[in-house]
Amino acid sequence: MSEELPLAPESPTMKRELRFECTKCGRCCTTRGEYAYVYLNPAELRRIAAYLGIGAQEFRRRYTKRDEYGWTQLSFAEESCVFLDERGQCSVHPVRPTQCRTFPFWPEFVTPQGFSAEAAELCEGIGQGPAWPEAEVRSLIEETRRSEEE
Ligand code: SF4
Ligand code: SF4
Repeated sequence: MSEELPLAPESPTMKRELRFECTKCGRCCTTRGEYAYVYLNPAELRRIAAYLGIGAQEFRRRYTKRDEYGWTQLSFAEESCVFLDERGQCSVHPVRPTQCRTFPFWPEFVTPQGFSAEAAELCEGIGQGPAWPEAEVRSLIEETRRSEEE
């Protein structure tokens, strides 16, 4: 159904405003079905390793795993991201991966009609707070796409 198609770069102006404000519930940092994965491209990996003051190799060993396709993911020990601290906050927040920073403005979650039902189910911040300018939404989606290609 067209309503569920993601917002493509060439899509016309969005038909519905997107309201979102993070409540800091931390759910997106825990396992959530299909989305229990945080991928790291090499630049993101190096940035977080530098923030922690360790080398890329040690970072890989301590905090990541490789999936069956060879992609690097953050470890999810006991159903939470390895960087989720005891207060439910991200301990690498200033350098968190792009997919964390741009959530829930991911290509697969935003349609011309608004956020998908799946996104709304995953994130309680959807529908809260002010409407986001379309240009900013498109820019976050593009940033997410680019990070997946690097
Ligand atoms: S699930 Fe949504 S509201 Fe909760 S921490 Fe993540 S982005 Fe914020
Ligand atoms: S890196 Fe930070 S923001 Fe991303 S899933 Fe882990 S704890 Fe959450």
